[in-house]
Order: sequence, then structure tokens, then C-alpha cells
Amino acid sequence: MSKVVESHNKRAIVTGGTRGIGRAIVKELASRSCCGVLFSDVAFVYNSCDECAEELLGEIDYPGIKIHGFKADASSMEQAQATVDAAIEKLGGVDILINNAGITRDNLLLRMTEKDFDDVISANLKSVFNYTKAVIKPMIAQRYGRIVNIASVVGLIGNAGQSNYSASKAGVIGFTKSMARELASRNITVNAVAPGFIQTDMTNKLTEEQVKKLVQNVPMSRLGNPEDVAKVVAFLCSKDADYITGQVIAVDGGMTM
Ligand code: NAP
Repeated sequence: MSKVVESHNKRAIVTGGTRGIGRAIVKELASRSCCGVLFSDVAFVYNSCDECAEELLGEIDYPGIKIHGFKADASSMEQAQATVDAAIEKLGGVDILINNAGITRDNLLLRMTEKDFDDVISANLKSVFNYTKAVIKPMIAQRYGRIVNIASVVGLIGNAGQSNYSASKAGVIGFTKSMARELASRNITVNAVAPGFIQTDMTNKLTEEQVKKLVQNVPMSRLGNPEDVAKVVAFLCSKDADYITGQVIAVDGGMTM
């Protein structure tokens, strides 16, 4: 008779891991336990805020968990490949990719510049291509991978003043479904989570009046927390979600039901 207990942590890369939703995802993956072991070692990627990265490293102190931070622009293919290579070296491989990095440059189309459009598509959509392309070779070789892309409800229903952002997130959803079809036979699942309005720096720019108006369209009558999203992401990376792929799960208090 023999008994095999899973003995190594999963190894995750999270883009945009230093603030808001990404930060909650890093903490959730690193602190959740599964099968008697802590769930995941994590490499997080950020673009500019070194202080945020240091603060996050200081907050995480789970015995037996490796955490590494990398400063790199997710919209650059070259930097994405170099970051994934370095993360794999530090973690010993990669099992999970969370494409979370994102920005907004809101304006009505009449006033939106070409740069506003290009920057948002690069940071939100091209970054998903970059990181997915960089991880799939090792994932295919090991016949295992869990990829979760952070989209948005506005990628499903649109939003005035966010044509660039909505287009990027609709693109993320299309990319997710295509990758799910390409990679399913290799035991790699690819899903998207579409948050509604979540309390982070991204939504802190809204006035009290705007928030009040937004909440009127949320059946649960509140904004979401980063942790509301992080728990669904962790579920999609867990054993319980092994047969789920190509799905878009809205975490929006019922807004888009
Ligand atoms: P946030 O608080 O503004 O944090 C964004 C994170 O992404 C930061 O860690 C930032 O790093 C990083 N980042 C931005 N551009 C990057 C780049 N080019 N390369 C690498 N890292 C980059 O945003 P959030 O609200 O948590 O949003 C996270 C994701 O959820 C985004 O994809 C967003 O579109 C999506 N989302 C958010 C909401 C919401 O209501 N908050 C709703 C739907 C979807 P630095 O600080 O170093 O720049």
C-alpha cells in the first residue's frame, strides 16, 4: 500500500500584483491551504510603485511560502518573457498565471486621444497575450496550467466614456475563450473573471455622487472588495475547478445578471 500527498506548493505569476485586486490575489494564493500544504508560491509583477511592492513583501509572512517581486512593464513582450524566465528560475516552474495588470484612460470618444486608446489596449490586452505566450510552453510540457484573466463587466455590457477600456476587456474575453479551446487538451484551463465596481485606487477617482449612481445599479447595493474577486480567482486555480474552462465569471453584486 502507498499514499501520495501533494508535496510542493503551486507556483503562480500575478501581473499587477502590488495594489488593489492583484494584491488581494497574491495574498489569497499565498495564504490559502490545500491538501495540507499552503497553496502557492508567488511571483508578482508591477510597473512603477516600488514602495507598494516593498509594503506587500513586508505584509506576507507565511512560513514555507516563496514570494518574489518583479518590476516590468506588462505591455512589453520582451520584458514579459524576461520576467517569466526569471520567475520560473526563482519558483522552479509555473503552474498558475493571473493576468491582472490594467489601467484606465477614460474619456468620451470625441475627446479620447490615440495615445489613450493605444496605452489601454497595450496594458490591458497586449499584456495578456505577452504573459500567456511566455508561460504556455512550460505549461504544455508539464500538462498542467491554470490561467485566469481579469476582464471587467464593461467588456460585456460597455460603458460610456470607456470605449478603449471596454474594447480591451472584450478582447480579453475573446482571447480567454480561444486559449481555452487551444489548450484544453493539455490540461490547461483558461477562464476570465469580470469584476463589477470594486473598491481600489482605480475606482477611488470616482466622486461620491458617481459612486452613489453606480451603486443604484448593483442589486447588492455596495461596491465589491478586492477579496471578493481574489477568492473566485483562487477557486478557479484550485482542484475544485479542474473541469471549468473558457468561462467568464462576473463578480459584480448582480449588476449584469
Ligand atoms: P489598481 O488598483 O490601479 O492596480 C493596478 C495594478 O496593476 C498595480 O499593481 C499596477 O502597478 C499594475 N500595473 C498597471 N499597469 C501595468 C503594467 N503596464 N505592467 C505591470 N503592472 C502594471 O487596479 P485594480 O482596480 O486593482 O484593477 C486590477 C484589474 O482589475 C485591472 O485589470 C482592472 O482593469 C480590473 N478591474 C478593476 C475593476 C475595479 O472596479 N477596480 C473592475 C473591473 C475590472 P504600479 O502601481 O506599479 O503601476
